[in-house]
Amino acid sequence: MKKTLLRELPSVDELLRNERLREASSLFSTPIVTEAARSALDLVRKEIISGQREDLSAEEINSAVLSAVSEILRPRVTRIINATGTILHTNIGRALLSREAADAVRLASENNVNLEFDIESGERGERDSLVEDLLKRLTGAEAACVVNNNAAAILVTLNTLAEGKEVIISRGELIEIGASFRLPEIIRKSGCILKEVGTTNRTHRKDYKEALTGGSALIFKAHTSNYRITGFTAEVGLRDLVDIARERGVLVVEDLGSGSLIDLSVYGLPAEPVVSERIGAGADIVTFSGDKLLGGPQSGLIAGKREIVDRIRKNPLKRALRADKLTLSALEATLRLYLNKDSLNLKLPTLKFMTRSVEEIEAAALKAAEILKTGLGSSFSINVEDGESVVGAGSLPGHSLPTKVIAMTHRTEKPEKIFAAFLHASPPILGRVNRERFLLDLRTVECPEDVMPLNFRF
Ligand SMILES: *Cc1c(COP(=O)(O)O)cnc(C)c1O
Repeated sequence: MKKTLLRELPSVDELLRNERLREASSLFSTPIVTEAARSALDLVRKEIISGQREDLSAEEINSAVLSAVSEILRPRVTRIINATGTILHTNIGRALLSREAADAVRLASENNVNLEFDIESGERGERDSLVEDLLKRLTGAEAACVVNNNAAAILVTLNTLAEGKEVIISRGELIEIGASFRLPEIIRKSGCILKEVGTTNRTHRKDYKEALTGGSALIFKAHTSNYRITGFTAEVGLRDLVDIARERGVLVVEDLGSGSLIDLSVYGLPAEPVVSERIGAGADIVTFSGDKLLGGPQSGLIAGKREIVDRIRKNPLKRALRADKLTLSALEATLRLYLNKDSLNLKLPTLKFMTRSVEEIEAAALKAAEILKTGLGSSFSINVEDGESVVGAGSLPGHSLPTKVIAMTHRTEKPEKIFAAFLHASPPILGRVNRERFLLDLRTVECPEDVMPLNFRF
């Protein structure tokens, strides 16, 4: 039986002579249809061998080929509705760009722009100059430059300033961010010698002083973005580190992680380190991300002393890690929004989401809950309750923002099944499961209608 079926399977050539597939070939190019035919035949062959398939119809095989074609052609980047309440969610692309930044990206992607070209003189320019004035104005630094992300900013900074030399860092600051960024590994990859001082919970001035030798290049301070050390603790502040460094003729570099350009406490949010304050406190170089609290494109910003930034700019690694025109355009438009503090929280999505009032979120949640009740039927129990959102990406750790969430349960099925069904809708809707309920947080969703899944299969 199996053998007969296998023998009846058409060859790829025979399949491609079929009229429906010939049509597909003219639409999608022969190599793609051929590849799809091969994979569809493989699949059918496996089904026959495993006993899952006991008959063969030409129609079914054709449809299998056509669905293999659409699988090959399916775009891989998919919009996801972020109903997690996590504003900067690294796995789904962190900060949303403002309309202004998105327009700037579009302009730069469809046109030639003055990326490295000085229109005034008609001569070659410097790409960082597109954003350097804004960065200087917003951070108080003498100079600034941009690379691909903050990890790259740390890599090129350390490599420039401390290759083959010691970098002194507290054991309390040897951070891991996400799964792939570990500060000790970046320091070693920069060609520097990592010299840990102090203990996990306590590091003192004398620890730094005793560690500094003629082979030391700099003291490195890292913002412990995604955790807090509390209890019996001691940390040496930036000003003290700068004093020690000046005395001993070494530099101070600080990795701020998120690094806010504004004081968030103005909005009633917990204070994150503000870049201009760290520059003001004497850090020689400060590095931070463009797509965390700043609310711009993925990028790594390096701000500090003119002479040092110039040295970093000349490092061939800077060339290897440089930002492209799309990033620089988005960054410039984002930074420009910071020039008007009054409209910033209306225009910058990251800040807009962080400062949304509970009342506004509740109104959106109630509206969405009604739509869901009508759309999903009476097997679901749907309520609006108090909840907590977080900023994410290691920003404002340990702090949650009060919110209202839609909490859903099903008469018979587990919340994980509701989670999966929402995620497999188109577009996918990402919620979360908490205490046996499926939760949707509208803080990060623009339109309440967006959380009603289309093509919902349950
Ligand atoms: C997020 C973070 C980084 C890494 O920044 P990327 O822009 O993701 O490369 C480095 N250091 C700290 C303290 C961070 O919070």
